[in-house]
Amino acid sequence: MINSKPAIVDRFGRTHDYLRISLTERCNLRCFYCMPEEGIQLRDKSEFMSSEEVIAIAKTFVDMGIKKIRLTGGEPLIKKDVKNLLLELGKLPVELGLTTNAVLVDKFIDVFKEAGIKAVNVSLDSLDEERFNQISRRNYFQRIKSNIELLIKHGFNVKINVVVIRDLNEHEIPDFIQWTKNQPVHVRFIEFMPFDGNKWDWNKKVSFKEMLQIAAMRFGENRVLKIADKKNDTTRSYQIENFKGTFGIISSVTNPFCDSCNRIRLTADGKIKNCLFSQTETDLLQAFREKKSIEPLIRNAIFDKKKERGGAVDFENDFIKSMQNRSMVSIGG
Ligand code: SAM
Ligand code: SF4
Repeated sequence: MINSKPAIVDRFGRTHDYLRISLTERCNLRCFYCMPEEGIQLRDKSEFMSSEEVIAIAKTFVDMGIKKIRLTGGEPLIKKDVKNLLLELGKLPVELGLTTNAVLVDKFIDVFKEAGIKAVNVSLDSLDEERFNQISRRNYFQRIKSNIELLIKHGFNVKINVVVIRDLNEHEIPDFIQWTKNQPVHVRFIEFMPFDGNKWDWNKKVSFKEMLQIAAMRFGENRVLKIADKKNDTTRSYQIENFKGTFGIISSVTNPFCDSCNRIRLTADGKIKNCLFSQTETDLLQAFREKKSIEPLIRNAIFDKKKERGGAVDFENDFIKSMQNRSMVSIGG
């Protein structure tokens, strides 16, 4: 489709063509790094985008040059009419993807196919059942593991997201990489990031450099091969020689990828966050409900985007302030 409207560009010239839409703040897991222990304050349904509103707002973004949409949350698959929503979004001329904890994936395989979804990202922070259940404060390890196998069997491009936290799971990095020996998965190790209520502390993060060293120590430096990263990719990707799968590191804390950022986030209550760490938001849903044009709001919100990490330049100090940000479950990771 030829797009007649100008692209969405910020003051630093970065073109934004990737939209992440959070479908809900609710979740069937309680991962401690994402969801505050006390849960999040439940709000009336009317404060959130209905599926029809998600579709209409997504269409506006697509008209403005969005080429890729990823659905997230909370857990996107618990939204009530998500099946229809996936099928409708699947009709748009975009690459549609999904990030899920995979608890409900077996119920959606056919829908994913019908909606044209090719890539599914699954969060799994431990290969050890007890540890996983401790992290997620629920008991779904076996179901998630078998749903990951199901996705692979059905030919989806599967990425596994692992949030790496010191003294919790960093010693599992080699086990996750070993998993890629025979499985065509891409495991992504994500640096633990600070959000409201997640008890982040500087010492709990494991840096990009350290993760790579752990891989080199186990598999040998010469066998850890750097592979090409896609344009705008937040992941630095690697492969162990002769392994089927690959792995990557996402280092928003120690080695940010802001220079090539092309992402826009839309929260479940219809607010634009122009950066994961931004402390400001733009309310699209209210304007949409008042039948105002949301296009100028989108352009202004992105134009105002800060150069790096929501303006946190001195990140050791400024990052602590990020903890006054929403919790991840309500931003949409
Ligand atoms: N429920 C879905 C899932 O878990 O995949 C989608 C939403 S979840 C918020 C999206 C991603 O954000 C997950 O991969 C999760 O691991 C990541 N995430 C949440 N809190 C994080 C944090 N504090 N630091 C780094 N990644 C985080
Ligand atoms: Fe739920 Fe995903 Fe957050 Fe875990 S990371 S609590 S699965 S939204």
